[in-house]
Amino acid sequence: MEIDDVGTIFKTKVRSIKTNQLRTDSGLSLFSRTLEYRKKCNHLQCQKNGTKSVQNIEADLSRSMMKTLYSNNIENEKEYHGISKRSRQPLLDFYHTTNWLKRQRRTRLCQTEKAYAKSAKSLLGGQKAICFYGDAGRGYGSRIGGHTRGSHDVFIGKLSEKATVVSIDEYRSSKLCAFCHMPMVHPVKTNKDKSKKITNLGTVVCINPDCISRKNGYAARGRDTNASINIAMIGYEQLAFCQTIQQFERSSLHAGGLKGKVTLV
Ligand SMILES: [Zn+2]
Repeated sequence: MEIDDVGTIFKTKVRSIKTNQLRTDSGLSLFSRTLEYRKKCNHLQCQKNGTKSVQNIEADLSRSMMKTLYSNNIENEKEYHGISKRSRQPLLDFYHTTNWLKRQRRTRLCQTEKAYAKSAKSLLGGQKAICFYGDAGRGYGSRIGGHTRGSHDVFIGKLSEKATVVSIDEYRSSKLCAFCHMPMVHPVKTNKDKSKKITNLGTVVCINPDCISRKNGYAARGRDTNASINIAMIGYEQLAFCQTIQQFERSSLHAGGLKGKVTLV
């Protein structure tokens, strides 16, 4: 590998999908804001009528639930059960019988699919591509961009309509150097008044003195950049030769051993 190749790999354009953009495109941001506004209106109306508003009911429920969680005795359980029973009808009236929410439920899926399709299109930029997808983030409850919880399946589905998507095992892809396949370290820096050491988890540094990237001034790089190069390499190796690069191979004794597994989505 020549120095020009090393440089070119790190100058590859990065296209990222922002959680906020997905929330805006799918109408989730507008929905949240409108729901908050409707709750405030409901609160003012209930204050006039002398009844309990949805905000107060939810606060009571939350308080009682936390009390039960931290001190699980029969009195707290009874209190929580009583509050839940009394709250059921007002909450059903607010969340399930209003025309606005019925309309939202009907249009939400369609809007979400459109938003994910738009993101998939922007990621590919109109090119024919093979996308390698590390399957560690596919589990239930995983996070997108560190904020929104949810499955990536909708996005992968939309991506597979426009490109070949290959799901691979990303084992050790963020731990090993993309060039020498040796373990990497995170750099440590001090804070402003130099009283505390902070590990920079977003960056990785190759410490192998024989590594081509280190010899040519590319020893430090973004953790995600390094991982994505590794994922692409693992994917190509599996597609072309039906094998996994030795350093990225799981032990056969490992409970979730997925030796050379490649799945076309
Ligand atoms: Zn290296």
